[in-house]
Amino acid sequence: MQRIKNYINGEFCTPSSDKWLDNYNPAKGEVYSQLPNSQKEDVEKAVMAAKKAFPAWSATSLEERSQWMHKIADAIENKLVLLAEAESKDNGKPLSLALAVDIPRAMSNFRFYANALTQFASEAHESVGKNTINFTLRKPLGVVGCISPWNLPLYLFSWKIAPALAAGNCVVAKPSEVTPMTSYLLSEICKEIDFPEGVLNIVHGLGANCGQAIVEHPQIKAISFTGGTKTGEHIARTAAPMFKKLSLELGGKNPNLIFADCNYDKMLKTTVKSSFANQGQICLCGSRIFVEEKIYDQFKDDFVKAVKKLKVGDPSDAKSDLGALVSKEHLEKVQGYIEGAKDQEATILCGGKPVKVDGHENGYYLEPTIIEVKSNHCKLNQEEIFGPVVTMMPFKSEEQALEFANDVRYGLSSTIWTSNIDRAMRLSNSIEAGIVWVNTWLNRDLRTPFGGSKDSGVGREGGFEALKFFTEPKNICISYEAY
Ligand code: NDP
Repeated sequence: MQRIKNYINGEFCTPSSDKWLDNYNPAKGEVYSQLPNSQKEDVEKAVMAAKKAFPAWSATSLEERSQWMHKIADAIENKLVLLAEAESKDNGKPLSLALAVDIPRAMSNFRFYANALTQFASEAHESVGKNTINFTLRKPLGVVGCISPWNLPLYLFSWKIAPALAAGNCVVAKPSEVTPMTSYLLSEICKEIDFPEGVLNIVHGLGANCGQAIVEHPQIKAISFTGGTKTGEHIARTAAPMFKKLSLELGGKNPNLIFADCNYDKMLKTTVKSSFANQGQICLCGSRIFVEEKIYDQFKDDFVKAVKKLKVGDPSDAKSDLGALVSKEHLEKVQGYIEGAKDQEATILCGGKPVKVDGHENGYYLEPTIIEVKSNHCKLNQEEIFGPVVTMMPFKSEEQALEFANDVRYGLSSTIWTSNIDRAMRLSNSIEAGIVWVNTWLNRDLRTPFGGSKDSGVGREGGFEALKFFTEPKNICISYEAY
């Protein structure tokens, strides 16, 4: 059985404890590889390697650094099929999705920051009348930590690593223990292209010890984390006494507001996607659907019909719309929410049951599920389920739609379907969310800020926001003698 290794100081290493964790193929429910169960000592080795590499890496010219990033992007592009197959096998997502979205986006993350770093300028301010000029230097932080989740493994891993490296930092990164494979393949890419040793270090293991050791390490100056709100809270508490910089991209329970005046066909097609893409395991999925009363019944019929046509199956089958959920534990957690529907006076309109896929009888498959709820205050509408489960209920007015949208602890994203520009603007302004989509969903431009408000996190990733996060501004004020 394949054993993937840590990548520290440009070398592949076994964990110091020689302890290993099983890695599952969720489509089959079977172990297919092992990963290091890294401990504090492994993180320490990685931090020391990163610290040693920092002076040279931070001093590379922008052109050279940019070329290195392009080389990684090129290699990802060349290995598209290999990486997509690995991602699909590790995560359970349809191969078609990994080929079309996950891996191309990981490539674009490196490509984007390879270019962005050459355009990242700092400000200068001349204080006229005072004969002074201020300018701001943006210095890399040193060694930074990147911790990512399992739902979009290489996509989100590279979304952190690329700007961190572009800004001149050295990185100690930990992917989710449930989906380590493509980050391991990224370390193979670094080895193949002779990427400078110690600049990127990848340590595999459990959040509670390996992740915790990264957050606790005093030499790590910043943590960029994507994951659950509870973990984010714990990280914030741990890092606060050391005054670490934190970027926390956390959970979501995103409203999808559908008005009667919308482009109905476009809305219906997109809503099926925004509900169930990646088995609903995208933090941006529109998991709470609110529909204007006058089209509620029509939408309910059409939506249920469309969702019943979705095929749950072997992720490698091009006809599968949904693959497997990421793990047995996660499947059970999602099923727990569905079972709880009865106690919340909610009605399951379709789905709700596990699916047996031929030849994959032990895989973690679940039907796409629509639940009609009576109140926005029920558990199903207030807690992040993070699976193929959406709720729906009607609203009477724009004011009520806004009230429902904001009456939740999360504030990551929201979608509004309307052809009334005034309403679109009013709601976009008032919805408590970091990202608002009007008549579209998951339409991303890498230059735009990405992140949430309320319990969905602190800070923004994307574009120059991420380069700002991974650098420290230093202002220099020079006084000069005038004529
Ligand atoms: P977790 O919070 O469980 O884990 C995220 C990462 O943190 C994993 O690598 C995990 O390791 C690690 N970790 C766990 N405990 C600690 C710790 N004490 N110290 C340091 N690291 C730790 O989230 P999931 O992996 O379950 O991902 C799903 C969550 O991610 C959902 O809530 C989803 O909404 C959110 N998410 C948010 C996004 C956003 O941009 N806002 C995007 C995508 C997902 P291990 O896996 O080994 O436990």
